[in-house]
Amino acid sequence: MGQGERYYRTELAIIGSGLAGFAASVFALARGIASAQVGNTGAVAYTTGYLDLLGSCRGLWLDDPWQGLELLRESEPRHPLSRIGRTAIQAAFDQFSGALTEMGVGYTAPAERNHLALTPAGTVKPTLSVPQTMLPGIEARKAGVRTLIIDILGLQGFSAKEFVANIRSSWPQLSTAKLSFPDMESGGQVFPEVMARALEVSSHRERFAERIKAALGDARLVGMPAIMGIHHPDRVHAELQRLVGVPLFEIPTMPPAVPGIRLREMFEQGFPAKGLTLVPQQKVKRLVLEAGRATLYLQDSFGEVMIESKAAILASGRFLSGGLTAERGGVREALLDIPVTQPESRADWYRQDYFDPLGHPVNRSGVEVDSSFRPLGPDGEPVNHRLFAAGILLAHHDWVRQRCGAGVAIASAHKAVEAVADMLKEQ
Ligand SMILES: Cc1cc2nc3c(=O)[nH]c(=O)nc-3n(C[C@H](O)[C@H](O)[C@H](O)COP(=O)(O)OP(=O)(O)OC[C@H]3O[C@@H](n4cnc5c(N)ncnc54)[C@H](O)[C@@H]3O)c2cc1C
Repeated sequence: MGQGERYYRTELAIIGSGLAGFAASVFALARGIASAQVGNTGAVAYTTGYLDLLGSCRGLWLDDPWQGLELLRESEPRHPLSRIGRTAIQAAFDQFSGALTEMGVGYTAPAERNHLALTPAGTVKPTLSVPQTMLPGIEARKAGVRTLIIDILGLQGFSAKEFVANIRSSWPQLSTAKLSFPDMESGGQVFPEVMARALEVSSHRERFAERIKAALGDARLVGMPAIMGIHHPDRVHAELQRLVGVPLFEIPTMPPAVPGIRLREMFEQGFPAKGLTLVPQQKVKRLVLEAGRATLYLQDSFGEVMIESKAAILASGRFLSGGLTAERGGVREALLDIPVTQPESRADWYRQDYFDPLGHPVNRSGVEVDSSFRPLGPDGEPVNHRLFAAGILLAHHDWVRQRCGAGVAIASAHKAVEAVADMLKEQ
């Protein structure tokens, strides 16, 4: 060890801080496995906040995602969700959404049916679990309640008029208003994250609530872009509702958006207090697998960091997060060069029609795993019995088209942590 180097020894090292990495940490902490997590900002800051299990199968939207999983098992047996039993998927979702609520961002408990959740463009999408701040809007659309949708002067990427124009056929009782945000009235660009932090301060809430009240008219509910605080959204939500006097709800904005930033900051603050060693905003440069240990090498602003663990979970995502790279010679796994299942040649990455309902083959690229979610090497055997993989890095799914991003992340993290626990027990 050189000067300035820090060294940690732990049972499990988790590589990645997207939903899969965070879920793996939640499950490992619940099992009492000493863990360290490393990862820089990835796709989580882009998410709507909705936790999709499975929203689409064979091109059809699913009202019942659990029945959808049965269809998926028949048509896509190699899909990561087809390799995990219903009970385990349900337990994973229950535990993860429960942990989010317990740590400070209230989520609905996963139920039998998908919600039809609101998107920034005024369309709807099937999803299983939603932030409590967004639930009243989903229910109001179903019941056709007279609702005011507001947007904010200077906010890009969310227009109340566009939202209403697109959703009006299924929710006619809507009106719109554009409000200015307190102390941001110049008309210059305003950002959701900045407004969300401002609404954690009571004087801003009071002034903003006055402006909402003045625009209310005969609306019985108000929908607004997702800006109800970063750290205590349910408290900000309740307080704003009390001030305005009618129920309010959030609609996700275009990425990067507050719901994902909330999750990231909540985990970054909450995990260390629960005993997890967290190295945020950093990437693992090298992972060395040897007899008896897996060692992660990285560097932060204080110097070199080395983490020695008995097992590692690779949850490094796909292209956006840097877990996979697309090169002239093909798609590669970035950290260990684990073989990636992918189309035969670059010419086969995309179909001719951008909107082809079958999707594009490159979006099913990823690493193969065995039944314990250990990634497979070129010989079809696990790369190392200490290495596991989780999340959208896995092959054989198209999470965007199938609306299963969180589903794959949470369920596979649950499976990988279970396999790690079994391995640690054996030793
Ligand atoms: C625009 C957008 C909208 C979305 N909306 C939804 C939605 O409505 N519902 C839903 O269920 N899902 C949604 N998702 C998907 C969701 O956010 C996750 O991308 C998905 O669940 C996969 O999670 P993951 O952890 O496997 O991968 P990622 O979220 O991609 O995370 C991978 C992580 O690994 C890190 N990493 C990569 N290489 C290294 C390394 N060498 N060392 C350390 N860390 C590394 C990355 O920095 C990142 O933190 C959305 C995603 C996007 C981009």
